[in-house]
Amino acid sequence: MPDLPAHLLDQARRLDAEDPLASYRDAFVLPDGVLAYLDGNSLGRPLVRTRDRVGSFVAEEWGARLIRSWDERWMEHPLVLGDQLGRVVLGAAPGQTVVADSTTVMLYKLLRAAVDASPGRTEVVADTENFPTDRYIVDAIAAERGLTVRWIEPDPAAGVTVEEVRAAVSSSTAVVLLSHVAYKSAYVADLPAITAAVHEAGALVLWDLCHSAGAVELALDADGVDLAVGCSYKYLNGGPGAPAFGYVAERLQGRLVQPIAGWMGHAEPFAMGGAYEPAAGMRRFISGTPPIVGMLPLQDMLDLVEKAGMPAIRAKSVLLTDFTIRVAEELLAPHGVTVASPRDPECRGSHVLLEHDAMRDVVAGLWERGVIPDFRHPRGLRAGLSPLSTSFGEVLLALGHVRELLTEIST
Ligand SMILES: *Cc1c(COP(=O)(O)O)cnc(C)c1O
Repeated sequence: MPDLPAHLLDQARRLDAEDPLASYRDAFVLPDGVLAYLDGNSLGRPLVRTRDRVGSFVAEEWGARLIRSWDERWMEHPLVLGDQLGRVVLGAAPGQTVVADSTTVMLYKLLRAAVDASPGRTEVVADTENFPTDRYIVDAIAAERGLTVRWIEPDPAAGVTVEEVRAAVSSSTAVVLLSHVAYKSAYVADLPAITAAVHEAGALVLWDLCHSAGAVELALDADGVDLAVGCSYKYLNGGPGAPAFGYVAERLQGRLVQPIAGWMGHAEPFAMGGAYEPAAGMRRFISGTPPIVGMLPLQDMLDLVEKAGMPAIRAKSVLLTDFTIRVAEELLAPHGVTVASPRDPECRGSHVLLEHDAMRDVVAGLWERGVIPDFRHPRGLRAGLSPLSTSFGEVLLALGHVRELLTEIST
């Protein structure tokens, strides 16, 4: 147990006592050996309820109903769950969200569909600080379609600004791909203003919401977003390899044809027809058989998020990141740690990046102690604060261990 200043212990206790969402923590599996989990933005904790759901699914929907479950529920489930995700998390009316594939595959499908729907436009705009998969997919599609990538190089401690986007787009731009919350710095891009700037150039925008969904409020319909993708295993606690989601604004669906023309996205999958004919609406963005088992935990988390409400979740997220920065300033800054995330909570998602040259060793030591943040190459500790499962006491304890390890390493 690290030595912690009494006033910080008091603050953590008070914040936990006053937290209207504190009781939600008990809904998660909380094993004894884990003292603090600050990586809910890489893999969210499972819900206790999910254990029962998976068990009864095997016995009943799969075990007893067998193939009949496809007709009874499973065929529609990627769209039904998508609608719930749209309503609870994305600010999207029904019929625009589907749960399928991995983020990487969904991103490929939507980006390719978008560039193919923009004939005569020869450029894709993306940024060098985006997550690797996003950058690789942009490069791959550009090579496939003979397009040029116009790379924005944002400030790594912040993120892409509307001015940078305005300077990059033109009548040659087909699509702009950006992350809403930067996976390293946690910078929140100005989604409404950037979306408007892209539209002024006559281009489409595709937002990656991996670090936003379930942590930051979204209003995709109201903001006029064209396309979006995101993970369900981060703040949506869908579990390892849980499927991604894709959003396509209704006005675009008829114009977009995605490249992985599989039977499950066909207008009549069971007609086993001769040629591919895409289904109407969001079903056309499905390719193969949907991963039903992988959607079970997500269902439980969406029910919980719906109960808590995104405004309350975002409010707690802001308090958590504020507290993390305050504690880091007091306990860790004297040891040379710097905060590499925005200070303005408006521009900050639900994680905080702390940097120090010894962070690789510190994080390795933390994992051995059951204190689990993420290490981000080359010198970052990323503290992911999952609002429904993280307590303020947990944050303070974790940073106390960071200070202890920094002291050990430097002596
Ligand atoms: C986590 C993450 C991904 C992950 O993609 P997968 O296909 O699920 O592995 C992609 N993009 C961003 C921005 C991410 O944060």
